[in-house]
Amino acid sequence: KVMVDSTDIHLSDVSFHYENETKVVLNQLNLTIPQGQHVAILGRSGSGKSTLATLIRGDLTPTAGSLTLGGVLTSSFGDQMAQYIGVIQQTPYLFHTTILNNLRIGNEDASVEEVWHVLERVGLKELVQRLPDGLQTMVDEAGLRFSGGERHRMALARILLQDTPIVLLDEPTVGLDPITEQALIETFFDELAEKTVIWVTHHLQGIDQMERVIFIEDGQIELSGSPAEL
Ligand code: ATP
Ligand code: MG
Repeated sequence: KVMVDSTDIHLSDVSFHYENETKVVLNQLNLTIPQGQHVAILGRSGSGKSTLATLIRGDLTPTAGSLTLGGVLTSSFGDQMAQYIGVIQQTPYLFHTTILNNLRIGNEDASVEEVWHVLERVGLKELVQRLPDGLQTMVDEAGLRFSGGERHRMALARILLQDTPIVLLDEPTVGLDPITEQALIETFFDELAEKTVIWVTHHLQGIDQMERVIFIEDGQIELSGSPAEL
């Protein structure tokens, strides 16, 4: 079992290119994300934001340099990374099973009470209560029963049940209308206040709520500071 004494993330001269590609996506990046910091990662399309997020999750390994979580190389966590980092993607994935099972992914021991509690926190309690089968309602594969914003709230509820110290959001609100997006951003950052939050985004809405903003360009960090400084 991988043991860490903090959840600080540390990148030291991290470079990365995809296999059989010549383009250097990340070029000698140095970055520390201390435990509990809320950081936004900005940059143009193709600048390497998602690649950086995938490296931090340990699903890719730097081609050079070292990337550690609590002093341990992220590439050595394997499946255990899920205990430390929860992820909300652009299109949250729901499975063809009940709402209850969908929410318990990653924490099968969550009690029904805990599940209702997180549904309340993310603003879905009433919606689920109104369904004739409640938590036992089947979700179809595409999650079509739910709107885009509701699917994102489900994904957040799942992450809250997993209770990981770090949450990585890769453009979680893309494709939503501005009002839904604003409401979601507020819910996300309120509910995740105590955790490390790494929020990949390509626009400026909501970044004033972050402690730190990082711009990536040409494989390097162009700017890093508090929203007020930038
Ligand atoms: P966006 O804002 O569009 O999501 P991004 O900043 O997240 O962009 P990445 O997805 O990290 O950018 O991509 C960085 C670069 O790496 C791009 O040039 C992209 O084409 C390339 N790339 C991404 N994934 C792969 C892959 N699996 N294999 C090869 N090249 C890839
Ligand atoms: Mg991306």
